[in-house]
Amino acid sequence: MDSVERGVIAVEMNRRVHSVGRGGLPNTSGQVELDAAWMEGSQLRAGGVAALRDILPAVSVARKVMEKTPHVLLVGEGAEGFARQQGFRPQRLLTKESIRLWREWKRNQASSGASGSGHDTVGVIGWHKGHTIVACSTSGLPWKLPGRVGDSPIIGAGLYADDQAGAAVATGIGEEILRFSVTSRVVEAMRRGASAQNACEGVIRFMIRRKPETTKTMVAVLAVRKDGQCGVAATRGVFSAYIRKDKRITELRS
Ligand code: ASP
Repeated sequence: MDSVERGVIAVEMNRRVHSVGRGGLPNTSGQVELDAAWMEGSQLRAGGVAALRDILPAVSVARKVMEKTPHVLLVGEGAEGFARQQGFRPQRLLTKESIRLWREWKRNQASSGASGSGHDTVGVIGWHKGHTIVACSTSGLPWKLPGRVGDSPIIGAGLYADDQAGAAVATGIGEEILRFSVTSRVVEAMRRGASAQNACEGVIRFMIRRKPETTKTMVAVLAVRKDGQCGVAATRGVFSAYIRKDKRITELRS
């Protein structure tokens, strides 16, 4: 868990990444709202935060939700209050650059609502002797409506883990991922015996068959099966995942 958390935090703290944590692009009213979550595959414990403002690292608050409360998801002011209670101090999530980009968007605001580009989620799956754990974090779609929650903190959409099958995490347009319960489908396919790669590809193919417009949007999913085998697939373009094993890092492409 600590390694997975460190991996996610490294991205949350990187102000040059405009889709996660500090430096993440804000919503229409210029506020950054973070979504993050965990799930572990042994007891199916899970915890998440949604539309969390002014607190970092969101993934660590989500971990506390999993470890310290009987709940799975805290949102908005409730999530922020809980974080403060747990000792997290308010922080500024906006950076000079993210404010500049927001102002620029405001000026050119041709269309309202979320944009189709500039989004991303950091998702990390940990595997150790058949035990799986997954965490993810994002600032969601840039220029989203205040209060919009994506797939990332929703169990079965943005992430899922069950040691009896494997774990999966998604990135891309959250509304599409939510509509199709993407990670839950991938894990269920692995439970039925599919390889991690076939499970990811099968779910993406199903999405495109069921809703052909999906090819116009970006959705990617990566999975680790209970035996440690990995897979990745995306609706468009090439999506890369990175596998770190015994200090060696290899790239896995969709
Ligand atoms: N899935 C995220 C969201 O919709 C964004 C992304 O991963 O690109 O909030």
